Parts: sequence; structure tokens; C-alpha cells
Amino acid sequence: MAGVVLDGRRINAQIQQELRPRIEALRARHRAPALAVILVGNDPASQIYVRNKIKTCRELGVTSLDITPAATIETNELLDIIRGLNADPTVDGILVQSPLPPQIDHQQILTAIDPAKDSDGFHPFNVGSLVANRPAPRACTPAGIMEMLRRYEIPIAGRHAVVVGRSDIVGKPMALLLLHANATVTICHSRTRDLADECRRADILVAATGKAGLITAEHIKAGAVVIDVGMNRVTDQAMANRLIGYDAERLRLFHKNGSVLVGDAEPRAMQEISFAYTPVPGGVGPLTIAMLMSNTVGLAEQHLLE
Ligand code: NDP
Repeated sequence: MAGVVLDGRRINAQIQQELRPRIEALRARHRAPALAVILVGNDPASQIYVRNKIKTCRELGVTSLDITPAATIETNELLDIIRGLNADPTVDGILVQSPLPPQIDHQQILTAIDPAKDSDGFHPFNVGSLVANRPAPRACTPAGIMEMLRRYEIPIAGRHAVVVGRSDIVGKPMALLLLHANATVTICHSRTRDLADECRRADILVAATGKAGLITAEHIKAGAVVIDVGMNRVTDQAMANRLIGYDAERLRLFHKNGSVLVGDAEPRAMQEISFAYTPVPGGVGPLTIAMLMSNTVGLAEQHLLE
């Protein structure tokens, strides 16, 4: 039996629907929630991510401030922008789109954002709250995955979760959220000795490596839930054949566009072996934006109602 598709677009729509009355209540009593989005330079992928975030703000009636300094900006100048936004009472959330140009001290920038305006949940203070399992804005992608597991009623407590990837924005916070939900958690990374062996022990397998096709049939236990966080643009014909060769329509689009967006796992292996899985696209991606909106509305409520 084919694995159930965990539909991120549907959950995104649900979360947005639930945010609407909260946004309306804030507008009626004070003003709309406001998110400042800082995009440094003109990296094409970042531009697409930011455009999607701003579009979602518009659809929901969240005010967005689009701040686009040149790629040559220095750390001090960016810090001045952030200090200005911290002090601005009409701004609830601040997001700095990654990656930043090499001359910018990324850590200094993240730490300069007021933790009470940290829509992305990356400030060390909020990371500490995550470790201690105290309320604070959570990193959007892992928080969205937890929402998805909850809404699909996938049990977590007592189950073995394996997270492949240990980045600050996905792998580590994901592992902590699963741990707080009482999973037994293994974290794997590029130095893990036998990745397939570790992954096959997973009831819940989260792949967040940025390596197309890393997770194969060998890595998935029958009946596992597979969450594929990866977003990889493949241009190589042989790799495209391996990953989407079974899907005539996707292969046609690959030939037309010269590339295809895939995750970290072989789609067919997920379909055939898992109990449920997230597709790419349409799985984890939409949840990240939903949780960014949720974090921003939550921060606005704290600023305006408490
Ligand atoms: P990073 O590059 O920061 O981290 C990748 C992690 O994967 C590292 O911990 C690395 O290990 C590990 N890794 C790399 N290769 C292997 C391997 N062969 N075996 C085991 N582990 C490996 O990536 P991010 O966490 O930022 O992102 C991961 C993926 O998720 C990317 O494709 C990204 O585009 C996507 N993403 C998607 C989002 C969405 O909304 N859908 C949001 C954010 C990210 P080590 O630490 O040892 O180097």
C-alpha cells in the first residue's frame, strides 16, 4: 500500500485560516501585525523565498516592511537598521534572510535582533528557551513539522525519531522539539558511520541535509513516517532519471525547464515503503511560511495585548 501523502499546502491553509480571526482582532483593537523582512543583496533563491513570505503577509493582512540593502552593506550598517527596527513600536517581527554576504558577521546580526521580535526563533535567547522547553518563538521549519505531525495525529511519544542533519535552523531544533514530545531521538550528520543503519531504526525519519537522493529504500523502515525537508534543484540528467524517472510528467517538465526541485529522499522509496511522507514540493516548504506568520502574530499579540 502506498504511503499517505502529508499535504503541507493543506496544513498551511488551515493554519492561515486559524490566524485570520487573531489578526482581525489585533486590527480591530490596535493595528495589523507587522513583519520587517531584510533581504541583503540579490541572491535569486533568497529573492523567491522573500517574495513568497511578503505575498503571504499581504494575503493575511499582515503588514510587511521590505528592506533591501545592497550586497556591499557592512555589519555595522546592518546593525543600525536592526536597532532602528527594535526601537520601532510599529514593528512586531524582524527576519533577516539567509545567506548573508561573507563580510557580514551573521551571529552578531542574529544576536542584535530583539528576542521579543525574533520571528524566526534564531536568537540565542530563544534557542535557550527551546532547549529548556519554555515558550518562545520556535524555528519555523521544525515547528511546522511538529504542527503537521500533530494535525495528522502521528504519535511521537515513545517512538524512535532519527534526524539527519544538525544545522541550527533545522536539524538541532527539530531534534529538540521531538525530544520534548517524548520521542527517543538520534541525530545523524556527515560523520555518522552507518547512516542507512541508523535511519532504518526510525519510526519517524527527518531528512534535512540538502543532498538530493541521499535517503534511499535502504534507509527507510517499512511503515516509517518520512519527513523530507530538503529543497534541492537538480540539473543533472542521470540524477533526475534516478529520482523522478518513474514519473513521466515530472520528467517532461525537467526536460522543458532544465531542472527539477527534489528533496533529500528518493520519492519512490518514500511512496513504496513509508506509512506516510512529505512530498517535495508541497510538503515541508508551505509549513515554514505558515509558522513564520504564526510566530509574527504571536509576537504582535504579546506587544499589543499583554
Ligand atoms: P545545512 O547545510 O546547514 O546542514 C546540512 C546538514 O546535513 C549538516 O548537519 C550536515 O552534516 C548534514 N549532512 C550533509 N551531508 C550529509 C550526509 N551525506 N550524510 C549525513 N548528513 C549529511 O542545511 P540546512 O539545515 O540549512 O538545510 C537542509 C536542507 O533543508 C536544504 O536542502 C535546505 O534547502 C532545506 N530547507 C528547507 C526548508 C523548507 O522550508 N522546506 C527550510 C530550511 C531548509 P555536518 O554538520 O556534519 O556537515
